[in-house]
Amino acid sequence: MTHSLETGQLLDEELLRYARQILLDGWDIDAQLRLKSARVVIIGAGGLGCPASETLVRAGLGQVHLIDDDVIEASNLQRQTLFLPENIGQPKAQTAATMLKLINPLITAHGTVARLNEDNAYELLDMAVSKPDLLLDCTDNFATRDIINRISVRYQIPLLSASAIAMQGQLALFEPHLNTGCYHCVFGSVVLDEASDERTCANSGVLASTTAIMGNLQSNAALQYLGLTKNPLTNKLLLWDGKQMQQRLMGYRKDLECPVCSSH
Ligand SMILES: [Zn+2]
Repeated sequence: MTHSLETGQLLDEELLRYARQILLDGWDIDAQLRLKSARVVIIGAGGLGCPASETLVRAGLGQVHLIDDDVIEASNLQRQTLFLPENIGQPKAQTAATMLKLINPLITAHGTVARLNEDNAYELLDMAVSKPDLLLDCTDNFATRDIINRISVRYQIPLLSASAIAMQGQLALFEPHLNTGCYHCVFGSVVLDEASDERTCANSGVLASTTAIMGNLQSNAALQYLGLTKNPLTNKLLLWDGKQMQQRLMGYRKDLECPVCSSH
């Protein structure tokens, strides 16, 4: 028996696998079908990309595409949850995609070993086929975040941006098609200030739990956005402080002078 709805259908094995989720108050077969029909591109298959993609794939995200040009190193294994010691030296994007397909054979996962930029974005995001439903920024430096934000604004693709460093993290979900502001509206000055003195996990350190928490807060927002078509972070920046065990929300507004999104 299958359940057919306008957006597609769930197979018996999907109904079985996602039973606890479909049972959830506020999450029904329609939500599961929307998740099944969604395509998400994850940029960065590291500390954030591993837990975020794993939870989304376990939850039933239909198509996931990981983009990363890095290879797995021994120092990654402390937090990059899709990798094993035997994977050292392999490309992260492809190894992560292989692991995700083992975790959930009912979904589609593929990895591209490349560095996303404004010139190759149209091709790497498969824009000729369809526009991705959501971009996940799981990278670890401001310069790349700025490029991903420009791509999100240019092609009007929602951007769920997470960051994690030491014992702190940040999360925001930008919807350029709704004109609610962009990453540059919030962090514009930070991008400029920190470009010369950049903090990354490579030089500042990160606790294993920080990336696990932020990657899963990211998947929590993505599931609501894709399954329930709700943005739980509209014009809000989530700040996580792992030392104090505190989470708070900070409001932001679109910068009318923003050089990235003001003309859109
Ligand atoms: Zn902006």
